[in-house]
Amino acid sequence: MEDVPRPPVVTIMGHVDHGKTSILDYIRNENIVAGESGGITQHIGAYQIEINKHKITFLDTPGHEAFTAMRARGANVTDIAIIVVAATEGVKPQTREAIDHARAAGVSLIFALNKVDLPEANVDKTISEILELGVYLEQYGGDVPWCKTSTVSGEGILNLIELILITAEMMELKAKVDVPGEAIVVESRLDTRMGSVATILMRQGTLKRGDIVVCGAVNGRIRRMENERGSEIKELGPSDVAIIYGLNAVPKAGDVLNQVDNEKTARAISTERQQIRLEREKYQNKSSLQNIFARIKEDKINNLNVILKTDTDGSAEAIADSFQKLNNEEVSVNIIHKSVGGISEADVSLASASDAIIIGFHVRAAQTAKKLAEDEGVQIKIYQVIYDAIDDVRAALEGMLAPTIEEQSIGSATVKQVFKIKKIGTIAGCQVDRGVIQRDCLIRLYRNDVMIKEDKLSSLKHYANDVKEVRAGTDCGISLVSFSDIKEGDVIEAYIEQEVAKKLT
Ligand code: GDP
Repeated sequence: MEDVPRPPVVTIMGHVDHGKTSILDYIRNENIVAGESGGITQHIGAYQIEINKHKITFLDTPGHEAFTAMRARGANVTDIAIIVVAATEGVKPQTREAIDHARAAGVSLIFALNKVDLPEANVDKTISEILELGVYLEQYGGDVPWCKTSTVSGEGILNLIELILITAEMMELKAKVDVPGEAIVVESRLDTRMGSVATILMRQGTLKRGDIVVCGAVNGRIRRMENERGSEIKELGPSDVAIIYGLNAVPKAGDVLNQVDNEKTARAISTERQQIRLEREKYQNKSSLQNIFARIKEDKINNLNVILKTDTDGSAEAIADSFQKLNNEEVSVNIIHKSVGGISEADVSLASASDAIIIGFHVRAAQTAKKLAEDEGVQIKIYQVIYDAIDDVRAALEGMLAPTIEEQSIGSATVKQVFKIKKIGTIAGCQVDRGVIQRDCLIRLYRNDVMIKEDKLSSLKHYANDVKEVRAGTDCGISLVSFSDIKEGDVIEAYIEQEVAKKLT
């Protein structure tokens, strides 16, 4: 079956107190759209609204920290990020951080300029501050949608919902439905009465009561699914959210939940996952420079993602500039976030989610950030001298450069006599004139100093014996892989190829 359209998943981010929670609550409680008004609602980490038959799923854990923490665990669930900026205060440090986090994740942005009911709200100033960050808003030369909102008067909220729907439509979000149900755990807890309770967000397929599922290292049979109003839900499809009951333990936020055929499979998978998790925890060391080197070799990564935290704006600019100067066509430093201040947990999460290293200059990492960095295997490097930082980053980039192949001549031989032997082919009886001929070297065959053929050896013999190499002054028998028309007097030049690490100039 074809992929079917699915509702967008929306996260709200922005500076503290700019109105993230108020907007989420307004949309939910005022229930301006759902029709089914009132009812005590519980915060379950996600909810869905429906307007003119279009659904929107909101992740109800506002803030880029939660967003990036999920992403760090591999759960890239958000399609659209709403960046809330109070027009009374304008762009603040966490606004910038939120934008960087959203951009690093590659999600679509919508700006809500909030608190416009207040007399001190200054929309124009706020817009120009947003533009200064390189975010090109609609009507200001760009295509990033925005609107004014107030959770006091309700102004603009419908407009915001409209923008979400338009953005979602342009994104053409789709999911498979004819596959086993797959969801991501958004939140989870242990209820004294109900046992393990998990809020899940569907990625693809469908889930029904009675389905057997595996979730991280946890498994179970879905006993009940309900929405945040406590009403039972019969079936879930892509982008739907629900609380589910029936897992045998509490899964972690960010865990993937999969529907499986039977309980035996469920148990087998969860045991295997438990083992994998233990192994991974032992070896986890995601973003150290050495590790990035190793992965570069495998995946041909050629971007070094960096989060830069410094004592002053001046030093941030200076270091970022020096890093950019190291870039060339092959490799580059990609500064996904830079700001003034100590290294926080949010920085570590972003680094983990983006495979970045954190570079601190004249700053420290908070104890909690250090701990998280250890857990997530994120490398934090602190410098007191700018040049030391640049040297290390240069070394890292040099490691990313594809090595150049240099050839080295190792010897040559002259063909003295040619033997054609049935079933074996042509063997050139040679004398090694210089250096050494090796069994696995590459050769060029010259006749009257003109190259006839580039080839490899198919055999190298000294008398009747196969040998690895033959040195100058010795006779040997050579046959080639793809060329047999060898003549007396031909010269065989032998060489090997070597990888040589490239340097940034
Ligand atoms: P969050 O930290 O971003 O989640 O912000 P909150 O939603 O908790 O809001 C912070 C404060 O701003 C609260 O006291 C809200 O009542 C207030 N607030 C939120 N939105 C508006 C608004 O549109 N207008 C006014 N006047 N106050 C608002």
